[in-house]
Amino acid sequence: MSNLGTNERVLRVAIVGSGPSGFYAADAVTKSELNVIVDMFDRLPAPYGLVRYGVAPDHAKIKNVTKVYERIADKENVSFFGNVTIGRDVSVEELKKYYDAIIFTNGAETDKKLGIPGEDLPGSYTATEFVAWYNGHPDYADHKFDLSQEVAVIIGQGNVAMDVCRILAKTVDELKTTDIAQHALDALVNSKIKEIHMVGRRGPAQTAFTPVEIKEFGELEDCNPVVKAEDMEINEASQEELADPKNMQKKKNYDRLKEYSELGEGAKSKKFICHFLKSPVELVGDGKVEKVILEKNALSGEANKQKARGSGEKEELACGLFFRSVGYRGLSIEGVPFHEQWGSILHEEGRVVDENNKVVAGLYTAGWIKRGPSGVVGTNKPDSEETVKHLLEDVASLTLCEIPDTSALLNILKEKKVRVVTLDDWKKIDVAEIENGQKIGKPREKFVSLNDMLAVL
Ligand code: NAP
Repeated sequence: MSNLGTNERVLRVAIVGSGPSGFYAADAVTKSELNVIVDMFDRLPAPYGLVRYGVAPDHAKIKNVTKVYERIADKENVSFFGNVTIGRDVSVEELKKYYDAIIFTNGAETDKKLGIPGEDLPGSYTATEFVAWYNGHPDYADHKFDLSQEVAVIIGQGNVAMDVCRILAKTVDELKTTDIAQHALDALVNSKIKEIHMVGRRGPAQTAFTPVEIKEFGELEDCNPVVKAEDMEINEASQEELADPKNMQKKKNYDRLKEYSELGEGAKSKKFICHFLKSPVELVGDGKVEKVILEKNALSGEANKQKARGSGEKEELACGLFFRSVGYRGLSIEGVPFHEQWGSILHEEGRVVDENNKVVAGLYTAGWIKRGPSGVVGTNKPDSEETVKHLLEDVASLTLCEIPDTSALLNILKEKKVRVVTLDDWKKIDVAEIENGQKIGKPREKFVSLNDMLAVL
């Protein structure tokens, strides 16, 4: 029986990633009866992960959740160490020397591909990079999107696709008081986009976005939603799906789309045009995207399990800007068992397992890197709690780490010339961003380069 978690020997937990699941995990660990220390690491100097770099700038209310995370970060036994990349600055093997348990909550940083010809042509982008760009993520600040085009096509009908469409659809007046990155706002001032086509491979009964998101398209200053009346005719299995109480959100989406289909085209200068039962099969263009070939689909299978199958019938849609928004994917970290196809860490209810399903002692995971890119911010709370419950159950059997001392690790990082950003450092950056934003009527102006963030310190 070990004395881990007692006054004699505090339980030392490292959390890799400081997004929502990282904070909920930190909260759950520190709420236990045990004597614990939680050190959170993030590769960026700023905490909050997707809340800062994923949630759309015009959805400020969702970002208020950072107030909860601030309180967690302020706990005496929680520390934040930003600007530290686990797997590069410190390997997982090295980290194990300093912590009894490690929870990976490093999210899903990249995106899924469509796997169609022409996907890599200039003018074809991923929603992931566009979202990161308008949110001021340092890795994407230099990206350029050709907004001189009039037609944009977005593949996918989830909430990320909706965010991309809405940012393209809004006027600068609608965005200028948000925390959108200034480089994005400047580019959007000159946007020529007139048509925004959202293309779903399944029908209006299988939308993956949420009702608030589709409602917003009826309230935009200078963009009308356009839905064809005939697209609202759905097969029997889809009708069955919509009658099922568990699909209440999809029913609300369907009703809203039906309402739009009865409005006609409208007179605003931009159009948000919904397409259903179509999949892109090729992107065509001479040196850049000029059109997308779409294949019409039919649904087959029983209710709630319907799949889209190509019918062979094709159509062309001329466009100069193309985004795929068909889901995020996690990236592997050396030393952590990973499922390449799923893009997530191998685990059993949050306990990391190897390819033979054997538990890897001391390693845990939570959030999108555990379960894949699904759910809203709050979904991560029960998910992280499940993981931490197992970690706490395992405490008696954990191997005590060799060097139970954070300052020893910080010294190593210093020797490696890594400028660790502490919570106090982050607070300085935070204040500077808020001040810079307030000068121009925004809630904050994010620093979009690591150097600018570190210069504040
Ligand atoms: P998502 O909700 O899983 O949606 C992915 C979409 O891509 C679905 O419409 C899916 O269609 C489609 N798709 C997948 N593979 C495809 C392919 N090969 N060809 C064509 N379409 C394909 O993912 P997401 O939009 O990336 O969002 C990730 C998570 O973040 C979601 O849980 C979302 O709700 C959440 N989120 C929430 C908010 C918010 O609360 N405001 C904002 C952004 C994101 P099928 O249904 O046919 O598979």
